Amino acid sequence: MVLPYRILERKRAGMRLGEDEIRAFAAGAADGSWSEGQLGAFLMAAAIRGLDPEETRALTLAMLESGDRWELARDVPLVGDKHSTGGVGDKVSLVLAPLLASCGLPCAMLAGRGLGHTGGTIDKLESIPGITDLALDRRRCLDLLARCGMAIGSATLDVAPADRRLYAIRDATATVDSIPLITASILSKKLATGAAGVAFDVKTGNGGFLPELERSVELARTLVETCRALGTPASALVTDMSQPLGRWSGHAAEVRESLDCLAGEGPEDLLELTLSLAEEVARLVGHPLGRAELTAALTSGRARERFLAWAELQGADPAWLAKPELPLAPVARPLLAGRSGKLAAVDVRQIGLLLVEAGGGRHQPESAIDFGISLESRARLGDPVEEGEELACIYLCREDERLVDDFAACYTVADEAAAPPLIAARID
Ligand code: URA
Repeated sequence: MVLPYRILERKRAGMRLGEDEIRAFAAGAADGSWSEGQLGAFLMAAAIRGLDPEETRALTLAMLESGDRWELARDVPLVGDKHSTGGVGDKVSLVLAPLLASCGLPCAMLAGRGLGHTGGTIDKLESIPGITDLALDRRRCLDLLARCGMAIGSATLDVAPADRRLYAIRDATATVDSIPLITASILSKKLATGAAGVAFDVKTGNGGFLPELERSVELARTLVETCRALGTPASALVTDMSQPLGRWSGHAAEVRESLDCLAGEGPEDLLELTLSLAEEVARLVGHPLGRAELTAALTSGRARERFLAWAELQGADPAWLAKPELPLAPVARPLLAGRSGKLAAVDVRQIGLLLVEAGGGRHQPESAIDFGISLESRARLGDPVEEGEELACIYLCREDERLVDDFAACYTVADEAAAPPLIAARID
């Protein structure tokens, strides 16, 4: 047995750890044999000294092996997956999975709940009446893949238990934003399903997990390289989160917008990003799909039908399936431009936090979400705007002047502004 003390001493001194030492750490996190102090010390030493690609690979594998591995591609050879680092208005998973499935490519995704200022796919899907249990295990996942070609749900507790303990300690020890630790954390859960290929959507800009482009690209590269080193084909797009994605942000509104997009009618940025990521996944699993084929699946309504078929299997209310509409919160308040010029900046992170504060997210792990709270973005970065023009509209449960003012303060109009590229980099 390698003593925690020796391992900590070596990493603190900046030495490269061997696979056995890293395995001892991950096992100690999963089985409780390392104390919180020892785990926290390891994380801090790793965050300061760094982990090289081989250490990052070994840590990812050890954390992955701390829990169940589904190896879906053994039974469903073309199964693909996509992971986003999260943002505001990011509803790509809701469109991408049924789109791929309707083109004959199975897609299985383990998704999460809202975290900080970012929304969660599971919460969005739970805004559909009747959908209350999205827990997935291997058997349920294979059953959904066989019946409708797609599965989206939350993992059972048996997936990557080491990460659950380590993430909580990272959160309390200022070691969340270390790229090797983020990589091992994301991949220990992502690779647990065993897809044939994974496309990453790493967000950049003030609403992204890592706002600076350089760091986002580094994270994208580390995710792709580590994934490949562990035998799974991967690529990444680094995409803009300096304004919300699409026109709508908020749980029910995002489901509505996804349904529009699934019929080929969604906003341009959401359509473009979803199609680009769908092309990545298809290529990675070895079954390339062209733009024309993907677009036809949307405009023909096949992709939308696939989503509704999945929703039915997940228990969606038949009345909703017959007429899939979801209400917005009743109090609509426009956010007006204070001057003429161009929309120059949107504080996306603050918008995400304000949506949570308005009731559209959780204050406590068990608090209820008001699914109708939403933001409708009307102007995009770089658009010319006139004084008094509506930049956005918020939908609240009740009048709240202070919240309206805080939302309005998230928008900056200036003389000059440029629209950022939707896809800033591609890592292949
Ligand atoms: N998401 C994760 O799952 N882990 C991280 O460390 C960061 C984002």
